[in-house]
Amino acid sequence: MNAQAAASTAASTAQPDFDAIIIGAGIAGLYQLHNLRALGLTVKVYETGTDVGGTWYWNRYPGARFDSESYTYGYAFSKELLDEWNWVEHFEAQPNTLRYLNHVADKFDLRKDIQFESRVDAARYDEANGHWIVTLASGEAATATFLITALGPLSAYTLPRIPGVDSFRGEACHTARWPKTPVSFAGKRVAVIGTGATGIQTITEVAKTAAHLTVFQRTANYAAPLHNRPITPEEMAEIKASYPAIFARCRETPGCFIHMTDPRGTFEVSPEEREAFWEKLYSEPGFGIWQANFRDMLKDPAANDIASAFLKKKIRERVKDPAIAEKLIPKNHGFGTRRVPLESGYFEVYNQPNVRLIDLHETPIERITPEGVKTSAEDLAFDMIIYATGFDAVTGGFDRVDIRGRDGQTLKAKWADGPKTFLGLQSAGFPNLLTIVGPHNAAARCNIPRCIEQNVEWVTDMIRHMRQHNLTHIEATAEAEDHWTSEINELAKDMLYTLVDSWMTGVNRNVEGKDVRRVLQYQGGAPAYRDHCDAVAADGYRGFILR
Ligand code: NAP
Repeated sequence: MNAQAAASTAASTAQPDFDAIIIGAGIAGLYQLHNLRALGLTVKVYETGTDVGGTWYWNRYPGARFDSESYTYGYAFSKELLDEWNWVEHFEAQPNTLRYLNHVADKFDLRKDIQFESRVDAARYDEANGHWIVTLASGEAATATFLITALGPLSAYTLPRIPGVDSFRGEACHTARWPKTPVSFAGKRVAVIGTGATGIQTITEVAKTAAHLTVFQRTANYAAPLHNRPITPEEMAEIKASYPAIFARCRETPGCFIHMTDPRGTFEVSPEEREAFWEKLYSEPGFGIWQANFRDMLKDPAANDIASAFLKKKIRERVKDPAIAEKLIPKNHGFGTRRVPLESGYFEVYNQPNVRLIDLHETPIERITPEGVKTSAEDLAFDMIIYATGFDAVTGGFDRVDIRGRDGQTLKAKWADGPKTFLGLQSAGFPNLLTIVGPHNAAARCNIPRCIEQNVEWVTDMIRHMRQHNLTHIEATAEAEDHWTSEINELAKDMLYTLVDSWMTGVNRNVEGKDVRRVLQYQGGAPAYRDHCDAVAADGYRGFILR
């Protein structure tokens, strides 16, 4: 049956196939499934991959690991799960995280409602029957009262728009589509294009065994040390005993990490005190240097400048060749205005004889050739090219599904100049479509499982409320959406990150139309976001039309 025929057959039935369809079986999709099943709903999850895990299923590249403390990252909802799972590193590596998510899927018997290898191509709201018709790439279709997207803000990976990408005859791979089988770099000439958080983890690992590694850097980033180490059994026992306090702490901080912004202003302390504070943050594990820095660091240009100078000094200290160090120092943005990559010996890689850095501002790539890469200065031959070139962030996952709401309006067209949402969970004109960790909520700047749990639990409560009151239809009002969208834009105004190109401002020049900065995130911090959501619910879902 072709897609249209399947869709029209499905459309002809007034009774939907499921109460809810969820797109994606990553951290968000799994938890939403578990919650809705507990409410007694019939649920189907469609997942493109062959198994659960989302981000941790796809991103198997060498060196992939958390930048969040492992014990702040797992699900918090089940004490039994918390008690039985042992993290082995303070910042867990991808294989064990994927094992964890498989354990969760098994423990809660989630796979039985997940259909794998099922990419959702289209979703259309059927106004006559008041439900969604979801069509897969295979042509199969199904209907549901609620459509819940759990797409992940960083799932739509992008290859560079460089001529000849398809012509290369060696091995080539985007980091987000890394093979499941082991990849060896021994004896190989490897190229890595991209130096974001992914590139930095990959480069550090590949440099250990490749015969030669060439790094193609367009924008240098301020990376800071991760300071990872194993968790001893004694530490794990202590962590288990402290989970309530750990999660309570995460609830208080703006990004749901264990790191809290320092309440002092940069210039309220002496230069010596400042330096000592930064040295301390730089020597500690995790995101403290970004998330626990002075309160004005990400807003006041002068405060940001001197914090940036500290990070620049660190790069100069760590890279032996001053000319290479200068190339590795960011020139067009301040510290923390792009997502800070955490690293484990990244800068020292450039002291190795088998590693070369090419600054694409000096010698841009002209094309990928059958043998390798041609820059404006030379032809380079490689055995392998690794594309660590990032994602069409936050809205990209939505753009790839043809989502049509009332009157055939597409979500892609509605969000073309920037998302318009209420609470980042709903968009007017798209009834019963709920966007977990979608644009305009706190999630894209968050220790994401914490924000996922908040989103999922709020949506679950809302659906429970609807069922208790015999309601089947929820839709944000245009006024509520306008108000929320203006508030989002207003909150972002005094943040320095809005002046910088990065995935956080939705810029990705590998994608048509994504060369303009947009406000994609709620900047008031996760606690304030949660308060907004709770107030809306307490006020009978104010801002929504319920029928
Ligand atoms: P990214 O930060 O967007 O970095 C992409 C890199 O590719 C940038 O260096 C970019 O250069 C470069 N690039 C893109 N197109 C190019 C082109 N045509 N020519 C040359 N270079 C090009 O993507 P990412 O590194 O995958 O990271 C995305 C986010 O995923 C992170 O910020 C983080 O939130 C998340 N992540 C988390 C972890 C973790 O928790 N440990 C690890 C990895 C990723 P420009 O900067 O000049 O555009």
